[in-house]
Amino acid sequence: MTNLENTLRSAVDADIHFDTVHCHVYSVDASIYELVPQGIVIPKSREALIHTVKIAKQFNISVTPRGAATGITGSCLGHGIIIDTSKYLNKILEINYEQEYAICEPGVVQDALNAELAKNGYRLGPDTSTGNRATIGGMFANNAAGARSLFFGTMADHIEHVELVLSNGEVLQFQNQLTEQEWKAKRNQKDTEGRIYNALWDIKEKYSHEIKNRFPHIPRRVSGYNLEALINNDNLNVCRLLSGSEGTLGIATKIKVRICKKPKVSGICIIHFQEMILGMQAIEKMLSHHPMAIEMIDDKIIELGRQSPTLRGKINWLQGYPKALFIAEFQSDNQSDLEAKLNAFAKSMQQQNIGSAQTLVTEPELIANVWELRKSGLGLLLSRRTYSRAIGFIEDLTVAPEQLASFMIQFLAYLKSKSKEAGVYGHVGSGCMHIRPFINLRSSEDVQLMKQMMEDVSDIVLKHGGALSGEHGDGLIRSWLNKKMFGKQLYDAFVLLKQAFDPDGLMNPGKITQGPPVDENLRLSPATKQVAIQTFLDFSAEGGFELAVDLCNGNGQCRKKEKTMCPSFQASNDEFHTTRARAQSLRAIINGKMPLKQLTSKGMYDVMDLCIECKGCKTECPSEVDMAKMKAEFLYQYQKANGTPLRSTLFGRIDRLNRINSVFPRLYNWWIKTALAKTVFSAFGITPERQLPALALKRFSVQIKKQKKFHSDKKVVLFNDTFTEFHHPEIGLAAVTVLEALGFEVIIPSWHCCGRPAISKGLLQDAKEMAKKVVDQLVPFAKQGFPIIGLEPSCILTLKDDYKGLLNSDELAIVVNMCTTFDEFVDKHKEKLRFDRINKTIKVHGHCHQKALVGMKPTLSVLKSIPECHVEEIDSGCCGMAGSFGYEKEHYTFSMKIGELKLFPAVHKNEDAVIIADGVSCRSQIDQGTNRKAMHLAEFLAEIVTKSIP
Ligand SMILES: Cc1cc2nc3c(=O)[nH]c(=O)nc-3n(C[C@H](O)[C@H](O)[C@H](O)COP(=O)(O)OP(=O)(O)OC[C@H]3O[C@@H](n4cnc5c(N)ncnc54)[C@H](O)[C@@H]3O)c2cc1C
Repeated sequence: MTNLENTLRSAVDADIHFDTVHCHVYSVDASIYELVPQGIVIPKSREALIHTVKIAKQFNISVTPRGAATGITGSCLGHGIIIDTSKYLNKILEINYEQEYAICEPGVVQDALNAELAKNGYRLGPDTSTGNRATIGGMFANNAAGARSLFFGTMADHIEHVELVLSNGEVLQFQNQLTEQEWKAKRNQKDTEGRIYNALWDIKEKYSHEIKNRFPHIPRRVSGYNLEALINNDNLNVCRLLSGSEGTLGIATKIKVRICKKPKVSGICIIHFQEMILGMQAIEKMLSHHPMAIEMIDDKIIELGRQSPTLRGKINWLQGYPKALFIAEFQSDNQSDLEAKLNAFAKSMQQQNIGSAQTLVTEPELIANVWELRKSGLGLLLSRRTYSRAIGFIEDLTVAPEQLASFMIQFLAYLKSKSKEAGVYGHVGSGCMHIRPFINLRSSEDVQLMKQMMEDVSDIVLKHGGALSGEHGDGLIRSWLNKKMFGKQLYDAFVLLKQAFDPDGLMNPGKITQGPPVDENLRLSPATKQVAIQTFLDFSAEGGFELAVDLCNGNGQCRKKEKTMCPSFQASNDEFHTTRARAQSLRAIINGKMPLKQLTSKGMYDVMDLCIECKGCKTECPSEVDMAKMKAEFLYQYQKANGTPLRSTLFGRIDRLNRINSVFPRLYNWWIKTALAKTVFSAFGITPERQLPALALKRFSVQIKKQKKFHSDKKVVLFNDTFTEFHHPEIGLAAVTVLEALGFEVIIPSWHCCGRPAISKGLLQDAKEMAKKVVDQLVPFAKQGFPIIGLEPSCILTLKDDYKGLLNSDELAIVVNMCTTFDEFVDKHKEKLRFDRINKTIKVHGHCHQKALVGMKPTLSVLKSIPECHVEEIDSGCCGMAGSFGYEKEHYTFSMKIGELKLFPAVHKNEDAVIIADGVSCRSQIDQGTNRKAMHLAEFLAEIVTKSIP
């Protein structure tokens, strides 16, 4: 342990990490950079944060504040100590609706603040696209703005007070209104504050003229320091000056922000263009209608949206194949006024021949779909399975809106001259364009070209009076160009400002001033020597294991607190337990930044441990990172090196255990309840807090043989999974009832476990053999065109999704083609079902794999076809059980914590509702967490099906 680490550990109330894996996890954000810090401090209080800064100063080590690390410029990366405010310093300290302000700790997430404010019809003005994870501290330090900046401006317009910790640990309070007299009084102080206010005065005196002339006159600029704040108002607004300072002047520990009334209704007009430039040429005409926002997406993003599993069902508002969409948003306090504004806008556009089609959307759900496509723009661009990616280096160019068309014509011609393509989207209403040329960072020509392009494009930007950044800031990527963009004098003023706040240069160095060369610290570079990892699973569909890992671009979606991805972060609020952390750890090994032996180390095990293989990332991550597959591969590699724990063999081969125990099911069911059994299980690492699932007294395959056979020439195969066969034959029987009611003869092949538990435990050789048996068994049915229906979502989806990593055969493709979940199949035939009248509320909890790979539409649509039933999907993510995860001693509490996030409260809230959950683990978790019995869809339908009309 180093002296620094020792001192921190003994003096600071914080999570402190100096180990290699943590340091690599914290070495990335959403940029193309990677800087490995010396250590990470996650302070539990404001005092702990201040203490950390003081100790760092004592050791002459730099500090870098960090929120959600969604920044695109590398501004929250540093070689010294990273101070993560997001885990603990995330309380809303005060909300005052009368005076319209909120005081937040820096780690409060934008959407969390907005959710609180919405209860009283308020919101924070600026809304970044990353609002579901970006922190107020990061937003302040990046001077963030969102789509609606035309109306709300940027963070700088909303900050009223900041408590700032300087690099020497002193804490200063800054406000947004300081009269000249007050400023004078401050200058007379003989302390740090006095020094700072004197420096501000000197900068104002010396550089006013240059600030007036040289700062771009555009609606949005985040490059450089906000020196305009020194000259623009009668009163000095230091908060504005500090906004956008990227943590280089101090760390904000309390931020007072203005809050705004939420408009009651909103609607959008989507203008379709056959040429992007045509839209840009019309931007002033659009702006004359005073929309809240005008956003744009190009055809590349639209096309990727059409291909995306999450988005393709949500873009049916698209008309034809436009080259660009311009989305104008209007808001109001009443519907008729909104409609008048929208209609006037659309009519005016039509009369002036602006756009080939104008679509008006006022339904909130559809509006959300439109914004989802817009917000997913970047992720979609980054999801290409190749090293030539749409990366951010000129991704934030900003000019005045009236200059946009001219700028883009020159820019696109330039791009063409370099034979480069780019994805384009952005906040066109305020002239801010997100342009991402496709660059391969492993190619030295491309890296050279990237540098050249930054130089050349900055010339075009300067010619148009713009700035290199309209919202993302300078960070590591653009700071080196600040002297060129602002001129030597203003750059000198920036340096003076930095020295006034941080004379020792310890506060987040190398950002805004003294930026390193653009190609230093690249995450992936021509010098990267990749280590080939011999994988068991086939990653060729992802372009290889290395690319599968590198797909993570660090945008931090896995830090959101909604939907399924990523349960381990949702329950821990800890960066170390994100999908990003896991991908980055693997990448560090592949790229040779951590030694190969680290792959099978305890540190690596820890970062992968809480991944419960929910597959949420496979669809919710815009780059479709498939961490479940990587975790299975990791476990395989880890166990190959370290041996397979007995518990993993027991759980992974539950099929074998069930077969043996089912010979004497009564005895087994009695035994697992005894104190002795619990002690034995506990010794194997199985929690005594839970009851292991009992076995059915008769296996499904035995029971079904006794049933009268229904014959039909329409045949289906019911895949006999391990849980139906041994634990829940009643669900199998119910499914047969429903399928026969639909007029199908049901074929039940003999039981073969699909291998899901083995995959989850990394027993990949076993899983492969099991997969082969299943495919061999099913292929004759598939060849006859019989649908193969699965009751347990994770089992049938193992065939559809996981098997391609294990087998590469034509037979597999034939089988997969016929596989379907029970709800999908019933949904296609539901018109034939007749139900008893029941007046019920039905709440549905989806299995994670079902949500990720199929979605909940089929289940909901089947249930909604039942008359007089009120059906709702529970807004839950993962249940937390995740196969055997929740039964494992060290995971039990965490598993329950995941359940407590949303699922358990929702079940408790609906005491009288029928709970439907198709996943066997989900039903156990609901039972053990809430004492309620959930039903499989098949059971519920079988109970109420009255007659069939085949
Ligand atoms: C897909 C995508 C879309 C985006 N869209 C937008 C957008 O619409 N608008 C926009 O403005 N930005 C956008 N961004 C950039 C980024 O998400 C935002 O700027 C966001 O506000 C950063 O917040 P964060 O918590 O992630 O900060 P981080 O990335 O953690 O940090 C950002 C900067 O703030 C500093 N910092 C963090 N906390 C503090 C503190 N307490 N005191 C002082 N300095 C601190 C860091 O050192 C760093 O310099 C986008 C990024 C991505 C990946």
